[in-house]
Amino acid sequence: MSNHRADVYGLSEAELAEVCLDAGLPAFRARQVFEWAQGRAVTEWAEMKNIGAADRDALAARLALKPPEPVRESAAPDGTRKFLFRLEDGETIETVLMDYHKDRSRSRATVCLSVQAGCAVGCPFCATGRMGFRRDLSAGEITGQLLALTARMRRLDADFHVSNAVFMGMGEPFYNMTPFLKAARLLNEARGQNIGMRRMTVSTSGVVPGILRLAAENTQIGLAVSLHAGTDELRDKIVPLNRKYPLAALMAACGEYVRLTGRRVTFEIALTRENTTETQARAVAALLRGMPAHVNLIPINAVAGSTAERPSPAKAAAFRQELARRGLTVTVREEKGGDIEAACGQLQAGF
Ligand code: SAH
Ligand code: SF4
Repeated sequence: MSNHRADVYGLSEAELAEVCLDAGLPAFRARQVFEWAQGRAVTEWAEMKNIGAADRDALAARLALKPPEPVRESAAPDGTRKFLFRLEDGETIETVLMDYHKDRSRSRATVCLSVQAGCAVGCPFCATGRMGFRRDLSAGEITGQLLALTARMRRLDADFHVSNAVFMGMGEPFYNMTPFLKAARLLNEARGQNIGMRRMTVSTSGVVPGILRLAAENTQIGLAVSLHAGTDELRDKIVPLNRKYPLAALMAACGEYVRLTGRRVTFEIALTRENTTETQARAVAALLRGMPAHVNLIPINAVAGSTAERPSPAKAAAFRQELARRGLTVTVREEKGGDIEAACGQLQAGF
């Protein structure tokens, strides 16, 4: 029976209402369950104080309340925390909490969510890519990371609240499109976490149909594209998906996203010795000419088995200046959580 129970963390209020109807429970129970599970991040039926025991049992017979189980947690001196979660079938994934601070009595924080266990794209410099693809996560397993993390952090800080979500953890979001979009919409619900769509960003390695679908869905979720190189020759090596969706197709899709949403696109470049040459700077600038874009440079993080090496600080600075000189807006991503292997590209199914 338990295998057939739908996961509360993955259901909308309307879907919960159908379950209530089916169980002969009043419709307002759906809103209560949604508020407790999605809004207040409770992890046990017994915590839902305004629902009587008999109704809780009827709900528990039809619905699973099974948050990802935190099995390990590590905190870096800069406040970044990494969580290892075990899912129902034993798969493990990682989730990162960043930029956590108090703003008057309210806390603000960004959570980096995983969308798959492993990843099929196989970028050679990425720890997730090196472990291969395990499976897709469900919508409830995606929201569940944020909710389980919130439940855990509220034991340390009663006001803990996540303000921003980035879909930049393990996996390729656009290869798990429907659960990713559903999770984003659930987290956006006013009676749920109420995280604004403009406070969410999704990063893709360049899945063209996914970019077009995101644009068509009109969600206001920010788009980040892992560019990493300005020529097909080099990008073929760094992001294997480039052989399927080369730069011309990728840029056309980004142009369509800009046209439909009116938002600019962030292009991520993890700095290596190979992609920081003057030729690459020129190629990147030419690609992005005329597009409302923002370039985010990421210091490359160490990953076992990867040969990607950091450029010298002078070379990295020259690359940055060359892009800026050619009219691009460039920022450098702050390094966070590197000492606990929670930084970009370091997430894998273990510590
Ligand atoms: N799969 C998605 C999102 C997760 S990766 C994607 O590839 O876009 C988030 C970002 O970290 C991507 O830009 C990715 O290219 C980058 N990244 C991967 N490995 C890295 C490493 N070792 N150092 C720095 N950035 C890395
Ligand atoms: Fe997958 Fe992104 Fe890692 Fe590439 S960088 S292997 S797409 S998670």
